[in-house]
Amino acid sequence: MKAKEIAALLDEPACSHNHKSKSGCARPKPGATAGGCAFDGAQIALLPIADVAHIVHGSIACAGSSWDNRGAKSSGPTLYRIGMTTDLNEQDVIMGRGEKRLFHAIKQAIESYQPAAVFVYNTCVPAMIGDDLQAVCKAAEERWGVPVVPVDSAGFYGTKNLGNRIAGEAMVRYVCGTREPDPIPPEAQRPGITVHNISLIGEFNIAGEFWHVLPLLDELGLRVLCTLSGDARFHQVQTMHRSEANMLVCSKAMINVGRKLQEAYGTPWFEGSFYGVGDVSQALRDFARLIGDPDLSRRTEALIAREEGWADQALEPWRERLRGKRALLYTGGVKSWSVIAALQDLGMEVVATGTKKSTEQDKERIRELMGEDAVMLEDGSPRNLIDMVHNHRVDVLIAGGRNMYTALKARIPFLDINQEREFGYAGYRGMPELARQLCLTIDSPIWGRVRNPAPWRRTPEEA
Ligand code: SF4
Repeated sequence: MKAKEIAALLDEPACSHNHKSKSGCARPKPGATAGGCAFDGAQIALLPIADVAHIVHGSIACAGSSWDNRGAKSSGPTLYRIGMTTDLNEQDVIMGRGEKRLFHAIKQAIESYQPAAVFVYNTCVPAMIGDDLQAVCKAAEERWGVPVVPVDSAGFYGTKNLGNRIAGEAMVRYVCGTREPDPIPPEAQRPGITVHNISLIGEFNIAGEFWHVLPLLDELGLRVLCTLSGDARFHQVQTMHRSEANMLVCSKAMINVGRKLQEAYGTPWFEGSFYGVGDVSQALRDFARLIGDPDLSRRTEALIAREEGWADQALEPWRERLRGKRALLYTGGVKSWSVIAALQDLGMEVVATGTKKSTEQDKERIRELMGEDAVMLEDGSPRNLIDMVHNHRVDVLIAGGRNMYTALKARIPFLDINQEREFGYAGYRGMPELARQLCLTIDSPIWGRVRNPAPWRRTPEEA
């Protein structure tokens, strides 16, 4: 990838950070990719496309660092879970065999698995030795008649967020608009209801949570052409240009896809969330608003009234157990505010939220929910998190999996909110699950036991 192409991706005009500084994202500092390199970001953004063969062109360690680290579920094909790599070694580098190995890897993937398409991810070593990824992909596509998409995402280009955008750019450039959607099947048509096409960008179907939301969209006559990329198929990504409205589900990842589809096809988009009762309702209203169908708006309001009533009843017993509990939230992007709303729905108090990966818009939403004095944490070091927990008498730390051991060593109840989790919290149906998991961790009898001194350390009074 040329330097000016990387600079263009960093200089995303739709990003509110950029409006403020007018200078694009900062270049990564040495060590900044420790939280995931550009390749990692590109692969996790596209890996959930389930019927594609995902080949990592590079040393085997790159494939190992990113494979299957997001709990995205598929309702059908499982090809995406097979790790594929060209496994370059020093002999290949010295002898200049990288391109040849890649060509053979594509051949093997196509002949062994008959994928809908092949995605090839570039990594640091082949980028440095100058392998021509695009030329190899083009030759392989012509040779076997299967789409082969280059994703030029060498780790040293930048951070994980840049990788997300590189992945989105590859989809817009090579895949979107290359096929028309199938006609609406007769069983999906209902008399008097106009079906509208929509897409979701940045929805990864973690733990299958999008399946909480999909029945609502079906009921409203909103046909999901594609979720980029949870439970997606290659042919669905090809048809995204026919959406009437797009929802950007995570604020930073792939923001360029929303903007570019609007520029190329005039598709309006909005940023939203499926976490928390109010936010799910708002997302459904935003679809109706952008599509501009009065009948859809009327049916949306009726569905919201019914579902909010159901959620209110379902959450009441949990609210009694959770009311007044204090949570420390350390996550990023849209979750830094959308989960606050979900916790407040449950009667909990959020004492602080992490904003390291949040945009200015995210911070504005946080202030709206928590007030002007909201505590925003930029420093997510274990020491700082533990100090916050003790100083604010926090009942539960809600954060990503990498903070789990910090919490457990400090004997603090912990809930995983990031991509590795095993429970889906999205949609109205996800809220009782979130409440249940919070109660399970906060009320676990283990905390009383581990906080007491061990029997051999007890004083005679404690024994
Ligand atoms: S792409 Fe580069 S930075 Fe990323 S895992 Fe591979 S070698 Fe490391």
